[in-house]
Amino acid sequence: MTEPVRFRNFIAGKWVETGSKGTFENRNPADTRDVVGVFPSAGPEEVNEAVAAAKEEYQRWRLVPAPKRAEIIRHAGDLLAKHKEDISRQMTREMGKVLSETRGDTQEGIDTAYYAAGEGRRLFGDTVPCELPNKFGMSVRMPVGVCGMITPWNFPMAIPTWKIFPALVCGNTVVFKPATDTPATAVRFVEILLEAGLPEKAINIVCGSGGAVGNAIVDHPDVPVISFTGSTEVGKKIATRAGNTLKRVSLELGGKNAQIVMDDADLELAVDGALWGAFGTTGQRCTATSRLILHEKIHDKFVAMLVERAKGLKVGNGLDESVQVGPSVNESQRATVKQYVEIGQNEDKATLALGGKELTAGEYAHGWFFEPTIFVGVKPKMRIAQEEIFGPVLSVLKIGDLDEAVRVLNDTAYGLSSSIYTRDVNAAFRAMRDIEAGITYVNGPTIGAEVQLPFGGVKGTGNGHREASHTVLDTFTEWKSIYVDFSGKLQRAQIDVQAG
Ligand code: NAP
Repeated sequence: MTEPVRFRNFIAGKWVETGSKGTFENRNPADTRDVVGVFPSAGPEEVNEAVAAAKEEYQRWRLVPAPKRAEIIRHAGDLLAKHKEDISRQMTREMGKVLSETRGDTQEGIDTAYYAAGEGRRLFGDTVPCELPNKFGMSVRMPVGVCGMITPWNFPMAIPTWKIFPALVCGNTVVFKPATDTPATAVRFVEILLEAGLPEKAINIVCGSGGAVGNAIVDHPDVPVISFTGSTEVGKKIATRAGNTLKRVSLELGGKNAQIVMDDADLELAVDGALWGAFGTTGQRCTATSRLILHEKIHDKFVAMLVERAKGLKVGNGLDESVQVGPSVNESQRATVKQYVEIGQNEDKATLALGGKELTAGEYAHGWFFEPTIFVGVKPKMRIAQEEIFGPVLSVLKIGDLDEAVRVLNDTAYGLSSSIYTRDVNAAFRAMRDIEAGITYVNGPTIGAEVQLPFGGVKGTGNGHREASHTVLDTFTEWKSIYVDFSGKLQRAQIDVQAG
């Protein structure tokens, strides 16, 4: 085993090894004997220092031309590409996702860097005609100030880059609190930003607990924007708290995503999609397929095909390239999965078609492993069909036609991702129109977003903001409308408008 490394926070331009609340350890969820690192646990004092530095730097950074700011972001993308393999290996060690997926996570950071860097030469506003003569009208995007970024553990590189790259290109500065389960990837990301040439006080990383560091960022009067990705439960608390200071809050929250398979679908393709959607990232994606809605005519055949394929999935340490499903991120997440399996069996009375148990023997003895699990006979109102589980558990529901499929799909508190497998173009278009979700895939699984399209959801999944694409700019900029009157006289809008 490797010796534990001491990691540091980066606050006000300095690397800081000590935390006002001591330290915490980060352990490999596939083998908890392996300590990935020891991290400073910060609190409100460090947040205050970080915000003050970011506020000071903001006055300089906002005046750097956007294309220049973007060059630094593009360089950060180059550095992410250069170190992709090391970053991805450390990420697998830190949170358990298999290597091919952590490489994908890092790649998403690279893609986001290049996309955001392109925005440095766009940041489009409008120029519009004015109603009065010799007058010019335009709208421009202005930065907002210090942005507080609070991120989850399941995409430790991609999600911070979704927020931090566009925020910086827009001219804001950042105070970043990563999840306690994935601080190592976050610290590496900050190192890369600094190596790329970002002014030191423009980025501050403050590791520590959600209660101590997260709340202090949310409450801080000099932080006008909070961008949060995480659970719906914490998102609601943050929105309520931040309401006191009228902050802008962007929330990307949980999901209970479903894949519909109609009776005319390519079943092999749909099985591939369901396996990847449900068990990829060990089901720990906000877009994971946790419900499978099957047409009654293909239900039994599809379940048989799926169970056969799921039985063959290799569970284990994600650093082994042949492994397909890694561990749960920590002990409490695996306990939640177990609890939901018990709810499925005892309270919901669904039928377990596969899995259902913790894996604890032999090579699994030191990790948080759980069998890929499939429930059949699930009804729409059961808890395992309604609540986010965030683990390798799939609930299968049976429907009679497309209307029922869409009704069942829509019948949850969430609305992030969705999918339909069909060869009927009319059915596909009806589903695209009627499904209540931020993302709909046709003949693809519920996971697989690309950075050039908006990412986010409806209902309990968020509060209307979108990450990625140009839509993320709305979180990190204020619109300013500018009127230039070159008539040399007072002209009154709505009053001095010439007739005819
Ligand atoms: P979480 O428990 O809500 O934590 C997310 C972040 O919030 C962490 O950094 C956490 O810090 C912090 N936090 C916790 N309590 C806080 C508080 N009172 N005030 C401020 N910050 C606080 O979520 P998670 O378990 O990390 O991630 C899984 C969840 O994220 C799932 O629900 C998943 O669906 C959702 N997710 C959504 C998206 C999306 O784009 N819609 C993407 C990925 C994940 P600590 O780590 O220190 O507790």
